Amino acid sequence: MMRRLFTLCALAAVAGAPFPALLQAQRAVPAATPDWNALGDQAAHMLADYIKINTTNPPGNELASARFLKGILDREGIEAQILDTAELGAGRANLYARFRGTGKKKAIILLHHMDVVPAAPSFWKIPPFSGEIRDGYVWGRGAIDMKSFGVVDLLAMVALKRAHVPLDRDIIFIANADEELGSTGATVFTKRHADLISDAEYLVTEGGQNDVVNGKLIYYGVGVAEKRTFWQGLTVTGIPSHGSRPTPDNPVPKLVAALDRIAHYETPIHPTPGVDKFFKDISVLYQEPQRGWLSNVAGAMSDSAARKWILSNVAWNAYLRNTISLTGLRGSNKTNVIPPEAYAELDIRLLPDADTAQFSADLNRVANDTAVHIRTIFGPKTPLEVPTNTDFFRAIERASHDRDPKAPVTTPMFTAATDRPLYRALGIATYGLDPFRIENTLYQEGMHGNNERISIENLTFGIHYMYDILRYAQ
Ligand SMILES: [Zn+2]
Repeated sequence: MMRRLFTLCALAAVAGAPFPALLQAQRAVPAATPDWNALGDQAAHMLADYIKINTTNPPGNELASARFLKGILDREGIEAQILDTAELGAGRANLYARFRGTGKKKAIILLHHMDVVPAAPSFWKIPPFSGEIRDGYVWGRGAIDMKSFGVVDLLAMVALKRAHVPLDRDIIFIANADEELGSTGATVFTKRHADLISDAEYLVTEGGQNDVVNGKLIYYGVGVAEKRTFWQGLTVTGIPSHGSRPTPDNPVPKLVAALDRIAHYETPIHPTPGVDKFFKDISVLYQEPQRGWLSNVAGAMSDSAARKWILSNVAWNAYLRNTISLTGLRGSNKTNVIPPEAYAELDIRLLPDADTAQFSADLNRVANDTAVHIRTIFGPKTPLEVPTNTDFFRAIERASHDRDPKAPVTTPMFTAATDRPLYRALGIATYGLDPFRIENTLYQEGMHGNNERISIENLTFGIHYMYDILRYAQ
């Protein structure tokens, strides 16, 4: 592409054509099909360089990665700004860029986070920040979560620009700091720069996952909903004394009894719209009787065999109800001392439409002991459930069906947390997408694990897929 433009420039210069005429000549060139393999190769090298910038959080060090991304955007002629360095602290930053369309329709945001989780090099086959390209893969921390997605977003935007694809919607590229720890990047960005994205209708980021088994894509998983983190701390106070003489004022047995009641508590089953669609969509992949059960998952709950089968899948169970995991637990630090206090923590994940006050009341009722004091240690973010009846969702469906006409494009619940609710709070419809076809086992191994890597084939796929989605969403 660069060479072709150069030739055009050279010819124009020889002919003595004025500059505006040259611009017109360039615009008149019909949109060329991008060279996907060349873009995939460019993505691999860009991702390798991005991985080499160690943005392990803490401390994050995202200012260096923001400068790296800005350098690329500058070279491609896309206006970019590094923001929030003072608010986020030393070495940290957010990045914002905008590629302008006609502005006839509202903008689309491509969002990713620049930070990565820590990596323990001794468990890796290659150093996690080497960005090594080996055996057709780019290796390193962030290769899946989610520097690869950022590179794909950037190059899809660049490909649209180079090919002069007409755009009615501006494309906004945002890279945030600190998603993996405190979400301060997205929090500061949405607080300070809501004006920069006031024209945005859609946002796409992590939070989707395609299902790939033995090289076969089973379904495209698009995130339209997210569970809400609602962590609780339970405290029982007592009277400390010597363990050799048991007393009724020991707080530990009271806490344990309450925890046991909570552990046996069956939260109600409640399929949200996206989850209901998910089960209906995937029902076609099963034989009877499972097919019938999944096509009406709420109804299936009254059939004990169906209920048992559906809820034995830990992911499906979490899609269908508020969940409670007993995690932290603390009593005495000495075997012979009855402690003054016993403490436990619950990792609770609520469905998007759950009523938090009602849930807290239910939890207190189940704990059933006024000596147990329950308080929220991490409050829920804005509820997130966005519609599938939108231009953007239809664009994802179309681009997916271009590639796999028979694979469902469906909407599993996202059971963990992303930065999406912060943007959802501004009224933007936020979608979780997986722009790759990563084998489930590789995803499991690499995401926050060891030997994180992504194939160049997947990078190539991702750029083309995002390019089509953005084109179709116009
Ligand atoms: Zn992530």
